[in-house]
Amino acid sequence: MEKKPFITLEKAKEIIKDIPTPFHIYDEKGIRENARALYKAFSWNKGFKEYFAVKATPNPYIMKLLAEEGCGMDCSSYTELQLCKACGITGSEIMFSSNVTPVEDMKLARELGANINLDDYTFVDFIKKVCGVPKTICCRYNPGGVFQLSDSEDGVQVMDTPGDSKYGMTEEQMEKAFIELKEAGAEDFGIHAFLASNTVSNGYYPALAAILFKLAVRLHEKTGVHIKFINLSGGVGVDYKPTDSKNDIAVIGEGVRREFEKILVPAGMGDVEIYTELGRYMLAPFGALVATAIHEKHIYKDYIGLDACAANLMRPAMYGSYHHITVLGKENAPCDHKYDVTGGLCENNDKFAIDRMLPEIDKGDIIYIHDTGAHGFSMGYNYNGKLRSAEVLLCEDGSYKLIRRAETPRDYFSTFDFSEFKELTE
Ligand SMILES: *Cc1c(COP(=O)(O)O)cnc(C)c1O
Repeated sequence: MEKKPFITLEKAKEIIKDIPTPFHIYDEKGIRENARALYKAFSWNKGFKEYFAVKATPNPYIMKLLAEEGCGMDCSSYTELQLCKACGITGSEIMFSSNVTPVEDMKLARELGANINLDDYTFVDFIKKVCGVPKTICCRYNPGGVFQLSDSEDGVQVMDTPGDSKYGMTEEQMEKAFIELKEAGAEDFGIHAFLASNTVSNGYYPALAAILFKLAVRLHEKTGVHIKFINLSGGVGVDYKPTDSKNDIAVIGEGVRREFEKILVPAGMGDVEIYTELGRYMLAPFGALVATAIHEKHIYKDYIGLDACAANLMRPAMYGSYHHITVLGKENAPCDHKYDVTGGLCENNDKFAIDRMLPEIDKGDIIYIHDTGAHGFSMGYNYNGKLRSAEVLLCEDGSYKLIRRAETPRDYFSTFDFSEFKELTE
């Protein structure tokens, strides 16, 4: 499918006058409509709730907007929990799905009344010691082996290797954990698993749901605990490439419903609430990195250098991920030039695109890098002394709002004690 920017060159220029590039921009309208479609797809389940994976886009303005659409938040660290607290999001509006959890993090999650998801069997003793077992508790499952979609209706291959992943517990451990947690006072139980990332198949959630629903029935029969919710976690992906298939959330919701009615309802477990912890699906397509072409270079290949770099968007350098690029104002120009589009890090993997066919790019052109709304800004770093960019919200009424200013050198140096050195002036 053709990938279209959610801003025009004209709009970009208006914003750039006020907020210089590079910046990440988010589309409020798209975010809200997408969240509503998710809730509609799962409206058959009375307790359905999406817990937005905060790590994807940890910005309180974005979190508030999703909270207004009925979403809770999924956290995995102390500071993510603090962000929720600052947004007034507490109690069962928080899912705390962490691993290798420090004592302080667990204590804060408990203090805020979050739904706590235990990553390991040893965490049963850990939570008893650290803060006591809450009334509601969740355990993370890892089935091991290879996860493969064999009967996906859309024919899209999904494969991942839970057996190699550090997360979750075995079924035997889940059973022991449930029994011990019940003895320690827990009354309502949850089951969580994350088996494959960025899936572009309507079959992933239903397949995962079938595994977890069957597990829930077995655990309920063996331990007698009340299973309150099943958390399908993240992993529903987006179409980064124009040739990728696109997930249809309505079809996914129906697929999960079928498994629910086939497995849970006959077992007398029709009251189980379905939760999701989507990050990418909620935000990726509704964010973009806007940058300016500041240099061009022609040696053995043709290069376009941007004022943004991998410190602003790490996915291409880290995973070789594809991010579609549009040259604003040249949407309809022929893509007859082959470029590497790069940042200025002293690392040759600092390339947003390699051998990409694009329209001829001139210095000063505004480059729109698609689908950076999740795991974009948030994976940023400060290598080479590069600073984190601003974040901008394109509001539903077409206006824009700075929701995070760009870092300054002073921010970068703020953890040094300069008393033995020269004062910084900037
Ligand atoms: C990262 C993560 C998510 C979100 O994953 P997406 O692929 O962005 O949907 C959800 N739950 C947990 C525990 C995670 O670590």
